[in-house]
Amino acid sequence: MSSKSKSKPFKACRSCKALVDRDNEICPVCGSKDFTDEWEGIVIIIDPENSEIAKTLEIKNKGRFVGKVI
Ligand SMILES: [Zn+2]
Repeated sequence: MSSKSKSKPFKACRSCKALVDRDNEICPVCGSKDFTDEWEGIVIIIDPENSEIAKTLEIKNKGRFVGKVI
């Protein structure tokens, strides 16, 4: 299990940038099945209404998100 380098424990939803467990086949936030392993940074949104980061990244839900989908 160590030969695979750069494998991340999470994948990112392309539509809403949610950080999703590898096991999930459907995004729990938006229901999309379009995921990518190419992402950078982790953002935790607790209060999307009052979060500058959420506004900047255009995130409207709380939860774990990636800073950037590459
Ligand atoms: Zn999503």
